[in-house]
Amino acid sequence: MSRTVTAVIKLTAIKENYLYAKSLSPSAKAIATIKANAYGHGAIEVANALADVADAFGVACIEEAIELRDAGIKQPILLLEGFFSADELVYISENNLWCAIHNQFQLDALKAAKLNQPINVWLKMDSGMHRLGFLPEEYADAFQQLSAMSQVNSIVHMSHFSSADDLSSSFTQQQTALFIDTIGALPGEVSIANSSAILAKVVADRTQWIRPGIMIYGASPLDDQQIAKPLIPAMTLRAKIISQRTINKGDGVGYNALWTADKTTKIGTVSIGYADGYPRHAQNGTPVFINGKPSQILGRVSMDMLMVDISMFEQQDCIGFDVELWGDNISVNKVAKLSETISYALFCGLTRRVSKSYLK
Ligand SMILES: *Cc1c(COP(=O)(O)O)cnc(C)c1O
Repeated sequence: MSRTVTAVIKLTAIKENYLYAKSLSPSAKAIATIKANAYGHGAIEVANALADVADAFGVACIEEAIELRDAGIKQPILLLEGFFSADELVYISENNLWCAIHNQFQLDALKAAKLNQPINVWLKMDSGMHRLGFLPEEYADAFQQLSAMSQVNSIVHMSHFSSADDLSSSFTQQQTALFIDTIGALPGEVSIANSSAILAKVVADRTQWIRPGIMIYGASPLDDQQIAKPLIPAMTLRAKIISQRTINKGDGVGYNALWTADKTTKIGTVSIGYADGYPRHAQNGTPVFINGKPSQILGRVSMDMLMVDISMFEQQDCIGFDVELWGDNISVNKVAKLSETISYALFCGLTRRVSKSYLK
C-alpha cells in the first residue's frame, strides 16, 4: 500500500451546483469562478466539466487564463483583477479574455496600447469593500475614459460585496444601492453577486451577471439553515489508517500530549497532516468518517499524520481503512469552523502531495 491521500472530485456535482446558482438568478448569466486552480479542484478539469454549460470563467491572473486557453477552453475568461502590466494586453485582446479595470494605471495603459481587437472590459467600482475599484465619485469619469477608447469594445459594471455572508448586516443592501445609483443611466450590463449573495438572493433579478465561486464546489458560505437547498460537496478528501494501538487511561497522544485518554482507547494513525493541507489548528474532536462510521481526531495534527479514535473497531484490524477528512459525510464547513478558518482556505491549501482523482 503506498501512501495515499486523495481528493476525489465529483465533476457532476460541480456542474449541478453551477446550474443551481443560475437557477437562483434565472435571468442572469454566470461567471464560473475557477481562480486558484478552481479553489484547489483543478482548473482544467473543472472548466472541461462546465464547458457545455458555462457562460464564462473567472480567474485571478493571465497565467491562469493561459493555462485554460492552452487546454482548449473556448469560453470568455474574465481576469477578475485585470492586467498587472501593459504587456499582457496583446494576449488579452487576441484570446478573448475579458478584463477588469480598477485603477487609473490600467486606464492609461489601455489607452496607450496598440491592439488589433478591442477588448471587453469590466469596470470595477469600490462600493465599500475598499480593496479594488474606482470610488463612486470617480466612476463616471473612468467610464467616459473607457467609452472614448478605440481599444474598448463593451463595458460591464462590476463591484464586489464585503459582507454578503453575514445576513444580519445591512451593508450588502447599502453597497447594492450605492452601486446601482452610481451606475445610474450609464449603459452596460451589471454584475455584483458572489456565492453568498446568490444564495441569499440579494440581487436576483437586477443584474445580468452573477459570479459564483465557492458554491459551485459545494461548500456554502452561509449556514445550512440559511440556504434553501443543500449544495452537493464536490470534493471528498481521503487518507488511510497506517498504524493502530490501544493506549491506557492517562496516556497522551501526539505532540505535547494535547489529548489524554480518559479510558482505554484504540487509536489509529492516519496518513495525512498539515503538509498535505489538513489544518494544524483542527481541534481535538474534529469529525472524521472512518470505514462508514463517524469518529474524531485526537491530539495535535502533525506534518504527515494525525491520530483518530477507532475504539468502535475494537476487534478489527484497521490498517488500510479509508478515512474521510471532509466531503460526502463530513462537512468541510465544520472542519473549517473547528480550525478557525473557512472552506475556501482549506480547499486552496491542499498541497501537491494530495493526488486528485475525478469522477465523471
Ligand atoms: C473570488 C471572487 C468571486 C467568487 O466569490 P465566492 O465567494 O467564492 O462566490 C466573485 N467575484 C470576485 C471579484 C472574486 O474575486
